[in-house]
Amino acid sequence: MTKVRTRFAPSPTGFMHLGGLRTALYCYLFTRKHQGTFILRIEDTDQERFVEGATQVIYDTLRACGMNWDEGPDIGGPVAPYIQSQRKDSYLPHAERLIKSGHAYRCFCTREELQQRRETAEARGDTWKYDKHCLGLSQEEIDSKLAAGLPHVVRQNTPLTGESSFDDLVFGHIAAPNDTLDDMVLLKQDGMPTYNFANVVDDHTMGITHVIRGMEYLSSTPKYNLLYQALGWPIPQYIHLPTVMRDSKHKLSKRDGDAYYSDFVKRGYLTEALINYLALVGWNPGDEREFFTMDELVDAFSVAGLSKSPAIFDINKLTWFNTEYIRRLPPDEYLQLAQPWFDKALQGQPMDIPRLAQLMQGRTEVFERIPDMIAFLRERPAFDSALYDNKKQKSSLDSTPGALELARGLLSQIQEWTEPNIHQALMTGIAAAGLKNGTVLWPLRIALSGQLSTPGGAIEIAYLLGREEALRRLDSARAALTSG
Ligand code: GLU
Repeated sequence: MTKVRTRFAPSPTGFMHLGGLRTALYCYLFTRKHQGTFILRIEDTDQERFVEGATQVIYDTLRACGMNWDEGPDIGGPVAPYIQSQRKDSYLPHAERLIKSGHAYRCFCTREELQQRRETAEARGDTWKYDKHCLGLSQEEIDSKLAAGLPHVVRQNTPLTGESSFDDLVFGHIAAPNDTLDDMVLLKQDGMPTYNFANVVDDHTMGITHVIRGMEYLSSTPKYNLLYQALGWPIPQYIHLPTVMRDSKHKLSKRDGDAYYSDFVKRGYLTEALINYLALVGWNPGDEREFFTMDELVDAFSVAGLSKSPAIFDINKLTWFNTEYIRRLPPDEYLQLAQPWFDKALQGQPMDIPRLAQLMQGRTEVFERIPDMIAFLRERPAFDSALYDNKKQKSSLDSTPGALELARGLLSQIQEWTEPNIHQALMTGIAAAGLKNGTVLWPLRIALSGQLSTPGGAIEIAYLLGREEALRRLDSARAALTSG
């Protein structure tokens, strides 16, 4: 096998779509697996859609995800430049060669003319494809139009008979009758190539052996192959990937905030978790393994594991991965990542943050959920005294006033407000009173937090709140009981 050369060819839109990121990932894994060369090519021929800084977003995202490229705009390489707009002049000679051999032609039809003929065709109930009108122009007509400087495009001249077929490594045998293929535009009026032409010329010129891309290009690939043949170039291997979907009907969407890599990072998903999960959206290792580092993915990856059925991106499954990855972080790294979210919730309230981090690490599913989980530390929410009732904990509304009074007495005598001291005082006192732990600790936790579920129990929360605040909350909870 010749040395594998692949490319990831994003258009600079300003955002990295998860579908694009997964394409990059499979491309990267495939290439590393085969000790090939991974190329980054920026496809910016659609100048109307130019977005400042968008290329940087691509670099930053790929690097953050651990996908380094071997050739690309910022690092150069033997087939530079790697930015399509800088290759503008390279396409015309190939287009001219196609014109000469009859595989392409100049088209001077205006937008209005096309619109009109489309409407007529559609009124007849025909599906419109370009009607090869300009293929009928004589050389003289063409020359005079060119001399008059009339704007024109170059179109592919697809055959009207026969069929084009190829074997996709994921989708298998794909065949299309040639008369269903439209004469697509290769060069636009401004001389820029369309994607449809540039991908062929660039993939060939860059020596790409395997084209790995989204399945939205599958149906156009027979046309690309006709171009390869017309130009006398070998056709690369194709690996088309099914679209990443939210469910069986919906794509990931900007509006739902589940389309872009940056959405997930902002919300507190770890890149490693995202990459691990994304690898499994449309590929499986053929065994039960779920956790993979990038190196392990490279090792396990094979095209045979790619699926052609729609790839469903399940946010719950991602969150499960994220929870696991967060749990496995070194504590100081967790603390560093959680700190901004703690700050947001606590707003300057003094607290033993490292201890809070310890209590929270195993409970953090997504960092953005931290503020809601610990908001009660800054301000206890209003709560219903029914929360004191808990059969399993041997706590009831009846036993609560006595239990809280006992806790109040025990806590107020503590000299130094440390967690072990709080533990010691409560445990000894509860035992001496002949009560079950739950009878006191349950209502104490409710009184301190106002909620059923908290990171840590009564002792940890009392400690985190500090003596003054803990006693204040306890007193107000007791007062609420007698007044209610
Ligand atoms: N620029 C195309 C896109 O972003 C690339 C498709 C391809 O990989 O060929 O969809």
